[in-house]
Amino acid sequence: MKIYFPKEEKEVSRVYNFSAGPAVLPEEVLKEAAEEMFDYQGSGQSVMEMSHRSKVYDKIIKDAEADLRELMNIPDNYKVLFLQGGASQFFAEVPMNMMKNKKAGYIVTGQWAKKAYQEAKIYGEAVELASSADKTFSYIPDCSDLPITDDMDYVYICENNTIYGTKYKTLPNTKGKVLVSDVSSCFLSEPVDVTKYGVIYGGVQKNVGPAGCVIAIIREDLIPEECLPGTPTMLKWKTQADNDSLYNTPPCYTIYICGKVFKWLKKMGGLEKMKELNEKKAKVLYDFLDSSKMFKGTVVKEDRSLMNVPFVTGNEELDAKFVKEATAAGFVNLKGHRSVGGMRASIYNAMPIEGVEKLVEFMKKFEEENA
Ligand SMILES: *Cc1c(COP(=O)(O)O)cnc(C)c1O
Repeated sequence: MKIYFPKEEKEVSRVYNFSAGPAVLPEEVLKEAAEEMFDYQGSGQSVMEMSHRSKVYDKIIKDAEADLRELMNIPDNYKVLFLQGGASQFFAEVPMNMMKNKKAGYIVTGQWAKKAYQEAKIYGEAVELASSADKTFSYIPDCSDLPITDDMDYVYICENNTIYGTKYKTLPNTKGKVLVSDVSSCFLSEPVDVTKYGVIYGGVQKNVGPAGCVIAIIREDLIPEECLPGTPTMLKWKTQADNDSLYNTPPCYTIYICGKVFKWLKKMGGLEKMKELNEKKAKVLYDFLDSSKMFKGTVVKEDRSLMNVPFVTGNEELDAKFVKEATAAGFVNLKGHRSVGGMRASIYNAMPIEGVEKLVEFMKKFEEENA
């Protein structure tokens, strides 16, 4: 059978997509995936169609893991798992697999941290160690001397707060306890020292790939023989680790695209380089917000995220007008999360700097026209 693809040359026009997730992906990756859609490297099949037990797929998942290990410099005593259920499912997996003493500390810096904290309460005693709820989560609390007790199994953080736009610039002092971190919205945005964590995990649909997969990097000694009673087989990390994430059918296509993003990141120069690019990109927007009379960032300067930038005009009608006109001009998904209002620009790895520069130009023009 012969398929001519693409059937004809067609111009595709793309928007600047500031979505918090699912979010923008590198165009190079999308193009490659399109080219391989009908026939992945001579297999005569799409990756969507092939067995997860086939040799060709085995190479895809193994290469993805190897490239991720290289990018993040993951030590050998950490397992890399590709899981389903989203980050939200993982909120339960953490206590199910880690609450031996049935007690853990949570730092509540936003909605995702709060959801994880509330989920943990189902399984044991979750203690709120600190919170920034008093100022609508616009800062990261001082974590140098938290009320961590000896009987806590771990300390949990959400490292980059997608909704509120804050990020930990230094990790909390966990007083020797294992650190568990949700990095969904800052995954691969800059280098990390994996050895400082017991568990690093994130949903890939923010900064890595399409929805459908959570990547968890777990120190081997933290994968228990026994979980809390009643833990489903699928949610036991041991099940997943013993089967190299192939206990059942994994999210095959998502992992394949993630693998392509890892290769793209390597080609871009790795995570040091991404950090440099992301800092440059975020500075364009933050510098404008600091100089604008109309638009204001909502986060204290020292805790600003490189990935998610919330801002407001202070006038809800004007916010709505801005979002509407921005959308018409090709800058989409700028509406803030329903819990904060205003606007939010998510400027993940795959957002080119031109996208941010053009957005700022548009904001300047809007400010002049509406002054
Ligand atoms: C989006 C997000 C989540 C929830 O992810 P799901 O995969 O939809 O469950 C959790 N944590 C953070 C930091 C997020 O940004």
